[in-house]
Amino acid sequence: MENLIILGTGIAGCTAAVYAARANLKPLLLSGPEDGGQLTLTTDVENFPGFPEGVKGPELVQLCKRQAERFGARFMVDIVESCTQTKKGFSLKLVGGNVLETKALIVATGASARWLGIPSEEQYKGRGVTTCATCDGAFFKGKEVVVIGGGDSAMEEANFLTKFASKVTIIHRKDAFRASKIMQERALMNPKIKVVWNAEIAEIIGDGKRVSGVKLKDTTNGKLSDFKCDGVFLAIGHVPNTSFLKGLIEVDELGYINADKNMHTTIEGLFAAGDVQDKRFRQAITAAGSGCMAAMEAEKYLAEKGVH
Ligand code: NDP
Repeated sequence: MENLIILGTGIAGCTAAVYAARANLKPLLLSGPEDGGQLTLTTDVENFPGFPEGVKGPELVQLCKRQAERFGARFMVDIVESCTQTKKGFSLKLVGGNVLETKALIVATGASARWLGIPSEEQYKGRGVTTCATCDGAFFKGKEVVVIGGGDSAMEEANFLTKFASKVTIIHRKDAFRASKIMQERALMNPKIKVVWNAEIAEIIGDGKRVSGVKLKDTTNGKLSDFKCDGVFLAIGHVPNTSFLKGLIEVDELGYINADKNMHTTIEGLFAAGDVQDKRFRQAITAAGSGCMAAMEAEKYLAEKGVH
């Protein structure tokens, strides 16, 4: 039986691990399918305090992981299929059948990229349709690509893609972006970036093997038109990874865990941290902060149960 299992090795989980490990709890972390979380899919993080020149996302999370390991945190690559409450804590069934038992649990499983959910997207996933510019941008050297979305991610991805693509078009379903001013300005001032307003993707077009364009639907009048491109980068937000907690824990209508301001969930001994419980801020620093809080509360909970 473990004292504390932390699900997720993003910045929330790793920060929780630093605190829990320094409290001698020897936490065990499970990576899930996206080891290191969303930061591993970004390039420069310019707003994490303490890095005046910025820091690479993957480096930041790697440093945090090393820091946790230094104090005795253990990391395991595995995926939890389901979670149940037991008399002594929680039982986690892993994909593959193994079972882990723990006295306390911190869920920091984050959120994964949202897809459009149209049939042609499925057909062209990995053949020109992707959710990660950092991972796939280099495949589009000298090509024309579109970025879907109007948030900070779309702006960031569009800017990043201009390093490779000959032309980047942001397609947004409204007539204004929700992205922060500074990110919008950077994208709009980039000569390689154009914008198509009031349009959504009705279909991805191609020859069955590669994308050759998208069919756009004008959101003001419903008119359809074809738009030529070689790649489609989706930046339309994220979905919290909570499906394995079905039936155990209270989540809101979008699937986010309902945690209180001290990171307690509706179940005693189960804490939440990071994007899995935060649809408002979703920043690396707030995820890290909530990871710290969850770990401190888990430590207090375990101490009350006689675990030191
Ligand atoms: P957001 O939720 O902020 O934006 C998602 C965008 O996708 C919106 O413009 C939304 O449109 C659009 N969208 C959603 N669903 C669809 C759909 N089915 N079809 C077409 N468009 C759709 O997500 P982000 O990932 O951009 O940002 C998440 C958080 O991360 C934010 O807090 C952001 O500030 C932060 N972030 C910060 C960065 C930085 O500071 N460097 C970089 C990247 C992210 P609509 O506007 O119409 O709702």
